[in-house]
Amino acid sequence: MGSIKDMTPHDSSRVLDKIAGHEQVMFCNDPGSGLQAIIAIHNTVLGPALGGCRMYPYESLDEALDDVLRLSEGMTYKCAAADVDFGGGKAVIIGDPQTDKTPELFRAFGQYVETLNGRFYTGTDMGTTMDDFVYAQKETNCIVGVPEAFGGGGDSSIPTAKGVVYGLQATCHTIFGSNELSGRCFALQGLGKVGYKVAMHLLEQGAYLYVTDLNMEWIEAIQEVAKSTSGTVEVVDGDAIYQADADIFIPCAIGGVINDDTLAQFRVRAIAGSANNQLASQAHGVQLAEKGILYAPDYIINSGGLIQVSDELYGANKERVLMKTKEIYYSLLDVFQQAKLDGVSTIEAANRICEKRLEDRRRRNSFYSPGIRPKWKIRN
Ligand code: NAD
Repeated sequence: MGSIKDMTPHDSSRVLDKIAGHEQVMFCNDPGSGLQAIIAIHNTVLGPALGGCRMYPYESLDEALDDVLRLSEGMTYKCAAADVDFGGGKAVIIGDPQTDKTPELFRAFGQYVETLNGRFYTGTDMGTTMDDFVYAQKETNCIVGVPEAFGGGGDSSIPTAKGVVYGLQATCHTIFGSNELSGRCFALQGLGKVGYKVAMHLLEQGAYLYVTDLNMEWIEAIQEVAKSTSGTVEVVDGDAIYQADADIFIPCAIGGVINDDTLAQFRVRAIAGSANNQLASQAHGVQLAEKGILYAPDYIINSGGLIQVSDELYGANKERVLMKTKEIYYSLLDVFQQAKLDGVSTIEAANRICEKRLEDRRRRNSFYSPGIRPKWKIRN
């Protein structure tokens, strides 16, 4: 399958098979602005779909479609786990974020979002920035996560990092019987927006940190921070982080880091970090459990950002966001306990909790229509 305009009837029937598990998939093709995008709504049982918009130079329409379908399904679980009244959705723009961005492209994207009439809310993801969505917001109210000056909640990596810290406390509580982070040893991959903030907190608590990042600037910055704290930083090279002799591995960079290769290398007692899609497959979650490594499901521990953007639609209140982010601690304790009781991996336990929430709600209504429950406080 090449571009949207080249699709054949054969491609179309294959697409219908692929999207069978989704409520709605919209292909957007606007020659004027050059926009080619796909918006996927996986499930709106809990409320209108919410999920970021990724921009990436996908090599084929198939690749873009697979990505948006997988990501939007993930959002259904993430929203259910965070207990926010939103469903799973996601958008992808096919293009190079370095060269293909224009205000017109994002305005056109905003117009397409508007046609969904409140069934889909979106904002930044990989390859897009808050500023891009200031243009999209000119065309629709269904945008979240723009800068505070434009009515958004601001940098969502702040609550995400806070959620990771609560998640680390829940993990420590489960393996050591105490929330204490001081004196513990962590191996942290990725010192970006989230990882850097988590690292700062751990150093302030007096933890020992093995760190790695592709960017030397971030490494030098965290070494500087360590000097004024009771914590210690030791830099390791690239993939050596997987073998670090630490208590907990904290992935805050790329997805797929729990795979056949790394499973054989881990020496930690637990894995708990912000990266999306950490497990190469669900089977790797089971294998972690068999190895006695406690896994904090990624879509729960990294949900602080989602909690912030979803809160914007109730009027953006930082205290409320913090209160809800703290609940990540209890959600993870519940999952760890349920996994033990049921004799399953933590990812299976988490999925079951989410599926039960969805099922309970489905009994009341099976999808979201803006006309049925217009309870959101929509910005003007
Ligand atoms: P970011 O791009 O700011 O930081 C990622 C960091 O990882 C960068 O410093 C990069 O140099 C480093 N990196 C990339 N590949 C690496 C590798 N192989 N080894 C070591 N370092 C590597 O991203 P972020 O916003 O901090 O997000 C980090 C992760 O958390 C991502 O997987 C993201 O999807 C996920 N996440 C972020 C948020 C958020 O609010 N920002 C919310 C939920 C999930």
